[in-house]
Amino acid sequence: MHLPVNADDVKGFLHPEEGNRLYELAKDASRLGPCLEVGSYCGKSTLYLGAGVRDAGGQLFALDHHRGSEEHQQGEEYHDPELFDRQLQRMDSLPELRRNVARAGLEEWVIPLVTSSTSAGRFWNIPLALVFIDGGHSLQAALNDYRVWSRHLVSGAILAIHDIFPDPADGGQAPYEIYQLALASGLFEDCGMTRTLAVLRRL
Ligand code: MG
Repeated sequence: MHLPVNADDVKGFLHPEEGNRLYELAKDASRLGPCLEVGSYCGKSTLYLGAGVRDAGGQLFALDHHRGSEEHQQGEEYHDPELFDRQLQRMDSLPELRRNVARAGLEEWVIPLVTSSTSAGRFWNIPLALVFIDGGHSLQAALNDYRVWSRHLVSGAILAIHDIFPDPADGGQAPYEIYQLALASGLFEDCGMTRTLAVLRRL
């Protein structure tokens, strides 16, 4: 895999093994259509997915409102003052995402969607080959991302979910909850985990 920038230089929370899996999944899925990620933040996962679609001639929609999840807000655990717009008094990770996608030479393959899942999903009508869910980690946000995007997956498409912690002592349970929901739906086969990344295939 050719990653034009060092992923370690990009802010974010994704293990390189998870990134490599995303690269392979995006490359393989691209034969079925475009890919979409929910929660681009500064673009770490975007680089891996973007490189995958680049190498297969696909396309990636990179969805994020860029105002930060609950845990990114001022006073919260993952707040980053460098991503704070002082004039607006709001978080803004879009400049960082654009910079990283441009540095990686991936602008042709990555289409940023700067809005919420709910807004982007309202009139969405494009069948998807891969959806990577790594947005807000509240149960409400994770459930909403799952409900909005999973229905657009074509047969054979990949649903990948980040931050799966079966043991509540290791982390928040919302991603694990939607993973369980997807499994229980009978609509997916389990394709195994890479660290905290769950991978399912739409039947
Ligand atoms: Mg994550």
